[in-house]
Amino acid sequence: MDLKERAQALAPDLVAWRRHLHAHPELSFQENETSRYIQEHLRRFGIPFTLPAGTAVVGVVEGRRPGRTVAIRADIDALPIEEENTFPFRSTRPGVMHACGHDGHTAILLGVARLLAENPDFPGRVKLIFQHGEETPPGGAQALVAAGVLADVDHVLGLHLMSHIPTGKAAILTGPQMASADNFTARIVGQGGHGASPHEAVDSIVAAAAAVMNLQTVVSRRVDPLLPAVVTVGRFHAGTAANVIAPVAVLEGTIRALDEETRRLLHAEVRRVLEATAGAYGARAEVEIEGGYPPLVNHPHEAEVFRAACREALGPDWNHPSRPFMGGEDFAYYLRERPGAFLFLGCRNEAKGACWPHHHPRFTIDEDALPLGVEILMRAALRLLTAGTSG
Ligand code: MN
Repeated sequence: MDLKERAQALAPDLVAWRRHLHAHPELSFQENETSRYIQEHLRRFGIPFTLPAGTAVVGVVEGRRPGRTVAIRADIDALPIEEENTFPFRSTRPGVMHACGHDGHTAILLGVARLLAENPDFPGRVKLIFQHGEETPPGGAQALVAAGVLADVDHVLGLHLMSHIPTGKAAILTGPQMASADNFTARIVGQGGHGASPHEAVDSIVAAAAAVMNLQTVVSRRVDPLLPAVVTVGRFHAGTAANVIAPVAVLEGTIRALDEETRRLLHAEVRRVLEATAGAYGARAEVEIEGGYPPLVNHPHEAEVFRAACREALGPDWNHPSRPFMGGEDFAYYLRERPGAFLFLGCRNEAKGACWPHHHPRFTIDEDALPLGVEILMRAALRLLTAGTSG
């Protein structure tokens, strides 16, 4: 059997694993049962593994000959969302749901594990990183890097199922593909008072409202128009009563960029606008910017290897033309340490109801994408291992 047939033959298992995981989702950093489920399967496939950090599981399949090391990562966590799907394998846990496809990523990597273990006739080794806590900063990737998981790794690969891309297609960019994602909190501190005597108070709501408006000029006036950037204020909390001037207003927001220079500029400008605007109204701003995931930047060689693997697995029309996505992903940390790439794999099929956006209560995937994911990762990993030392 060739690789395509072996991946397709695995489809019933992939679906069963994915449905089990879908029915039993666990939140970031609490993936204990998921971790045990992965460990049981690796044991059954005869693959040794370690538990380097949190609930993560890292298996290693040794090839028959010495060679390089390719790591493949799947994230395993779910989200705090109440599922609205009604299929029999819907979440059994109130308020927790696999609404980003990480159940599919885990099933795909289990499939890769099994195919590699069944036929280790390749040079080098493949490291299987089942990573915890992707959805919740600081994420699990940093802890795994700190634990030395990449120390012996030459290339690192990952994929994400994407519900806006049809099944059978994929997307990948060389260079920046996803954004940095940093959150900020600003306490705008004024002075409380009677709503009828504004001249005796410092109104934090008026100062904060002006700050929200002024923040809109950071992207429009400070950032090069050819560089993508986002500043969003997602929360605005202040006040206790209609006739009371609020002493404090709290703003929370997110900052996104595709490169480190723009990211630094946004941090400095957001801080400056908040502090200066508060000052202009006689208030002051206490600003905290929490560094989140860095931009996800694909390396050219591994992106090209993914393209070749997609052509073989999906055919000549595999490519879904795409632009960078301003979402964040902690796979970015691996790509700062080692050359590698991250693929977007289509899982959209409207006839099957797999057409809702990620993080939606009705999100689901077209399971036909699972064997395709296995085949693509297998082909990409084997290409990197058999290509000699031209990294
Ligand atoms: Mn995700």
